[in-house]
Amino acid sequence: MKAIILLSGGLDSTIAAELMDAQGIELLALNFKTPFCLCDRKGSGSCGNYAYKVAIQLGIEFRLINAADDFLEVLKKPKYGYGSNMNPCIDCRILFFRKSKELMRGVGALFIITGEVLGQRPMSQFKRQMDIIEKEAGLEGLVVRPLSAKLLPPTIPEKLGWINREKLLDITGRSRKRQIALAKEFGINDYPCAAGGCLLTDAGFARKVKDLITHDELNLSNIQLLKSGRYFRFSKETKLVVGRNEKENKSLAMLAREGDFVFRPLHIQGPLGIGRGFFDPNLINLSCKIVARYSDRDGNNSAEISYGRIPEAESSLITSPLGEDELERFRV
Ligand code: SF4
Repeated sequence: MKAIILLSGGLDSTIAAELMDAQGIELLALNFKTPFCLCDRKGSGSCGNYAYKVAIQLGIEFRLINAADDFLEVLKKPKYGYGSNMNPCIDCRILFFRKSKELMRGVGALFIITGEVLGQRPMSQFKRQMDIIEKEAGLEGLVVRPLSAKLLPPTIPEKLGWINREKLLDITGRSRKRQIALAKEFGINDYPCAAGGCLLTDAGFARKVKDLITHDELNLSNIQLLKSGRYFRFSKETKLVVGRNEKENKSLAMLAREGDFVFRPLHIQGPLGIGRGFFDPNLINLSCKIVARYSDRDGNNSAEISYGRIPEAESSLITSPLGEDELERFRV
């Protein structure tokens, strides 16, 4: 009997995999890549890498599906709305379940397994939402949630005796005590992607994403850009991102493309700024002032900032830094 397990690399889905493995179910681990993975932010690998690591430890086959483009479409206008920030959790789960269903057919799997825990996440892990998600994905009765199964109606695999319901669990809510105890039992000591969720649940990041959606500019390139620094909006079509550290400066340098404006301090240490959109002399001046604000001026009240539109030649100007009040007017 083969099933697909949605494996995040976190504790819950790892325990779900162990429970199903113990019942002799052949598992294929599936993970989805989106631009909003939290693990990327920690700089220690993507969620996909963590899930892969767990799959290797469990000795099961692993697939990673890049769902970025579809996810962005969902994010622009989610049928079931957003959670506390810009997280469209119900539509996101529907998307992942639909893709899992497509894969199910191709690999001969008969059902889906998840590490979901009833009542753990407000937007997508309550019974009513779970029902909506299953129905919209065309997977009614075919999603087994081993951690909470005893609190949910029996699924088709349970009814048909493919799975022994008695050996499934009745965990509910946000406490992780029982999962941690089970992890010990199973000898699981490394569950790197424990936090779950995604960047869209972060209020500050969500504000930036909302800005892109409002300006009809939500695409992968702009998302990567705003993940790499402080974000300033000047007009409907013009924005500036300024690196916060060397890593972000390098990342911005890689992301800059033809037509973008590049701003950087000359002779002193400071950030790289990438401007995207229409820059008139006033906005060039404003951007230089912002880059000067974050440069190491060593007590001086001015800095020389180089600017130029890729691939044209760069010019420079000497400017004072932008004041804090002004800065806040443009910060997203
Ligand atoms: S928090 Fe999880 S379910 Fe919600 S949108 Fe992000 S990845 Fe999807």
